[in-house]
Amino acid sequence: MHLQTMREEDLDWEVYHLLAADPTRDAGFLAAHLHCSRDEIRASLQRLERALLIEQDEWREDQCPLDSGESHPLPGPLLPRPPVRHRGRRDPREGREGTPYMTDVCVLRLGHRAGRDQRVTTHVGLAARALGARGMYLAARDSGIVAGIRDVVARWGGDFFVEDGVPWKRCIRDWKEQGGVVVHLTMYGEPVQEHEEALREEGRVLVVVGAEKVPADIYTLADYNIAVTNQPHSEVAGLAVFLDRLFRGEELKREFPGARIRVVPSPRGKRCEEL
Ligand code: SAM
Repeated sequence: MHLQTMREEDLDWEVYHLLAADPTRDAGFLAAHLHCSRDEIRASLQRLERALLIEQDEWREDQCPLDSGESHPLPGPLLPRPPVRHRGRRDPREGREGTPYMTDVCVLRLGHRAGRDQRVTTHVGLAARALGARGMYLAARDSGIVAGIRDVVARWGGDFFVEDGVPWKRCIRDWKEQGGVVVHLTMYGEPVQEHEEALREEGRVLVVVGAEKVPADIYTLADYNIAVTNQPHSEVAGLAVFLDRLFRGEELKREFPGARIRVVPSPRGKRCEEL
């Protein structure tokens, strides 16, 4: 990916994962691999450190090896931390503003029946977007759903993606191959409150929700079968509670860059402003 098309947040994400895979990777490698300059790598490392995602023991900006223009290993060990912001709470810098880093979450919607599930599937996508997920894979073809959700993104901002016609087994396989975990939400699973902490340590989570029935394989293909209570209810409710617990409510403060319209929160009535 070229930097012109890469936002800072994406660059940090790439750098973090390259270092998580091999902490000895040096600046030259990072810059060459990500097609960007050493200054951009240095800025990214500084952001990651400020966000408590990496530690560079002896590293000081004035002796940054990236300044020399040569390829050096970073001096102190880089210790990648899980990319979750709640970690900051146990840090001496406790109390400072949260960082923009949150676990990367996407949703995989199974069992959608065109004509019957339009409304609920749209609500799965809208709830996922509003509550901090990065996108939704739809294991069915339905261009109306895609258009509807993209229209919301265009007007209300953010970069939530939606993709239909996704082969669900391949989606799960690819996600796992890229180091992510798969969480299937089902009333038959284990209580969310018993696993949310472990899940917060994961960098990438694919949340699978069904419609009327789900294929039996999903129970074994998923890394976790998770219940939001063991009572029957809905995929929208299950997803919303799951995301809120995973993000510990931080997702409620999220902003949606590029919005054309925004609500002005009001005690009464409906106020919006054009941006
Ligand atoms: N028999 C289905 C099942 O296995 O959960 C119920 C289908 S329900 C109408 C549609 C979807 O809602 C399910 O596939 C599941 O993802 C989600 N869901 C329903 N109840 C849930 C619960 N208690 N916990 C987590 N997810 C739930």
